[in-house]
Amino acid sequence: MTEQNISADTLIRLSAAQLAEKLRAGEVTAVEATQAYLDRIAAVDGKVNAFLHINAEEALAVAAEVDAIRAAGGAEAEALHFLAGVPIAVKDLIVTIGQPTTAGSKILEGWHSPYDATVVERLRAAKMPILGKTNLDEFAMGSSTEHSAYGPTRNPWDLDRIPGGSGGGSAAAVAAFEAPLALGTDTGGSIRQPGAVTGTVGVKPTYGSVSRYGAIAMASSLDQIGPVTRTVLDSALLHQVIGGHDPRDSTSLPDPLADLVAAAKTGSVEGLRIGIIKELHGEGYQAGVENRFNDALALLKDAGAEIVEVSCPNFQYALGAYYLIMPSEASSNLAKFDGVRYGLRVLPEEGPMTIERVMGATRAAGFGDEVKRRIILGTYALSAGYYDAYYGSAQKVRTLVQRDFEAAFAQADVLISPTAPTTAFPLGEKLDDPLAMYLNDVATIPANLAGVPGLSLPGGLADEDGLPVGIQLLAPAREDARLYRVGAVLESLLEAKWGGPLLAQAPDLAAESLETQEAK
Ligand code: GLN
Repeated sequence: MTEQNISADTLIRLSAAQLAEKLRAGEVTAVEATQAYLDRIAAVDGKVNAFLHINAEEALAVAAEVDAIRAAGGAEAEALHFLAGVPIAVKDLIVTIGQPTTAGSKILEGWHSPYDATVVERLRAAKMPILGKTNLDEFAMGSSTEHSAYGPTRNPWDLDRIPGGSGGGSAAAVAAFEAPLALGTDTGGSIRQPGAVTGTVGVKPTYGSVSRYGAIAMASSLDQIGPVTRTVLDSALLHQVIGGHDPRDSTSLPDPLADLVAAAKTGSVEGLRIGIIKELHGEGYQAGVENRFNDALALLKDAGAEIVEVSCPNFQYALGAYYLIMPSEASSNLAKFDGVRYGLRVLPEEGPMTIERVMGATRAAGFGDEVKRRIILGTYALSAGYYDAYYGSAQKVRTLVQRDFEAAFAQADVLISPTAPTTAFPLGEKLDDPLAMYLNDVATIPANLAGVPGLSLPGGLADEDGLPVGIQLLAPAREDARLYRVGAVLESLLEAKWGGPLLAQAPDLAAESLETQEAK
């Protein structure tokens, strides 16, 4: 044990980079840090419901191993990864040995993967203690985490509001100081939109630049794993751990990973052309979102960036195309959950016990409404006779969206927009209105259709409701480094204005839980 000169409350509020420095300097041990996070989870997760599974024993064992290696010194200690001993949470769509993986669905309740996802193997190789698995909309379908079969996650800024989705669990865990880092997946915005509404940072890397081996597939041409953190530098550090070629993922890019951490430390946007996407702000965006977006533009301009306006006329069709392509691919990917190979099996109550009827009963009981809606949509869009009209047209729109990006990136190095049209809405508000729910993704979806990387960072609080607003940066495919460069500069300018990180202004959940305990 080190001398406890850092309180647990201070410890959990450090960024991952700051914590890593303290671990290296011997000011704190990995066991102390991991225990501080486990204690925080115990204190506040009853309210937030960010975690579906907590992996205390294994996390502490990994932390103890890091501490032992450090204490022994020598070559092995030297070789420890910078993030060794820094805990992390993993979205429960990503498979892990030794912990259940549910995808937020009843159909996988109690299922254990026999193998680790590549990204999880890489976390283990870096000796990062895995705190547990985080809540999500069932099979990552949703924008609010209300479609989880295990109850909604709540937004740490206001427990009556949504934390975004589908990765609301990872974003809320990081925002509520239950983890310094988390992994998410982003098919249409599920890393970036939760980041926006919880005041955290989320990155969807270039398609194919982080292995999806072991991420339960939703829509394979869109899915991407990425970092969920509190700072831009932390995202770069985590991206560097999980990124790079993987022969087990056939869509994995062969390129070596750029130095993203160095990019986050560049410190300048001088001379960079930043393009405002005309179609992704203004009408339909909440006034407070628009105001914070304009503040960010002014700061970047003052810092020497050249602000230009670009037009992406086909982005207006992106949402429609996404909600045909995504359900089509999902209907195919989810066919394997049939009551035979994985998890739940439900037998029909009466009638003949045929395999089709067992599959029918299992899928009827195991899948929630949103998943069923999308499977039906997808099979319809793919059916003979409608294929060209729906799926075929959507693929053509996808090409047009890609061309819009190409034209925009000829005029600008990085594009910018609000991440989501509104701040966090109240739980239940859009649950019965799928189209209103889908509209949350209007600004994030184009990046998935084109495979380009996107980063969301906190842009401040909206005037009308005091809730976090997200700013989205987009770069050409394989140019993720630009996002970290611009993101880190904007973050430091904003934090100078706020006098510290935005999350320092979030309500103190632990204090609240003490009050409620006393009241009981
Ligand atoms: N909200 C989007 C959807 O429901 C995005 C989901 C995701 O990125 N996994 O499809």
